Amino acid sequence: MSGIDALPPLREVIATHDLSARKSLGQNFLLDLNLTAKIARVAGDMTGSDVLEVGPGPGGLTRGLLAEGARRVLAIEKDTRCLAALSEIAQAYPGRLEVINADALDLDATQHLTAPIKVVANLPYNVGTELLIRWLTPPSWPPFWQSLTLMFQREVAERIVAQPGSKAYGRLAVLAQWRTEAKIALSLPPEAFTPPPKVSSAVVHLTALPQPRFEADQKVLEHVVAKAFNQRRKMLRAALKGLAPDIEDRLIAAGIKPTDRAETVGLEQFCALAREVAALP
Ligand code: SAM
Repeated sequence: MSGIDALPPLREVIATHDLSARKSLGQNFLLDLNLTAKIARVAGDMTGSDVLEVGPGPGGLTRGLLAEGARRVLAIEKDTRCLAALSEIAQAYPGRLEVINADALDLDATQHLTAPIKVVANLPYNVGTELLIRWLTPPSWPPFWQSLTLMFQREVAERIVAQPGSKAYGRLAVLAQWRTEAKIALSLPPEAFTPPPKVSSAVVHLTALPQPRFEADQKVLEHVVAKAFNQRRKMLRAALKGLAPDIEDRLIAAGIKPTDRAETVGLEQFCALAREVAALP
């Protein structure tokens, strides 16, 4: 027995199924089930929700989600070695865990989920930011998910919640904060994982807002912000050259000084600039 359920402790599961961690798959496992249950609780009440988990590995967080009452968990795992361990969890929670052996970057998980949906994952670091950007930029808003509760390297977590004027502020902060409420919910030292990664980690909780904070076309905003931060040390009149023939006037109309740099411009001003650019003939 291992505390939160009747399944064997994770060290035993890893030994039984020979799940030595592979760096190429971003494998740093959480073996403390009290910690995984704590991470699951960050997502709030899951009793009426489906939960999408990417990269369950040996299933520590999966067990936390199920023990905390998730209605159903859909877990997408690329590593076939983990499937036997995950199937033991599915047997312990009949009808509540579905595991798909796939690359999360190739699979449309929405086909396998019923709303309301929460996403909770200790993401593989190599695909974490890519997945976050996809979840933040769906074809229409609100997205398929109500909230995202995601483990990141501390440095990436700080970029998501960063405010203008800070070094971490950039494209990720603007994209995340435009349409979600984003906060760092937990910080974890390297020793919380097996094997320990080189850096600290943090769990970020993002709640989808019903509507964007400020009006803007998603594609135009993404383009403006990417261009602005691509040369973050340059004044915006130079960094955004080519975006519009009269870019200085557009910046002024959006309430931005042409001599400002991207890192000092707030979300509201970026959205105003995106509207100015979208209005171009
Ligand atoms: N959730 C487990 C835990 O907390 O102990 C494992 C987390 S580990 C950081 C990341 C997991 O994602 C590994 O099990 C790895 O095999 C899996 N993974 C890596 N790339 C993936 C991908 N593209 N699609 C799905 N799973 C992937």
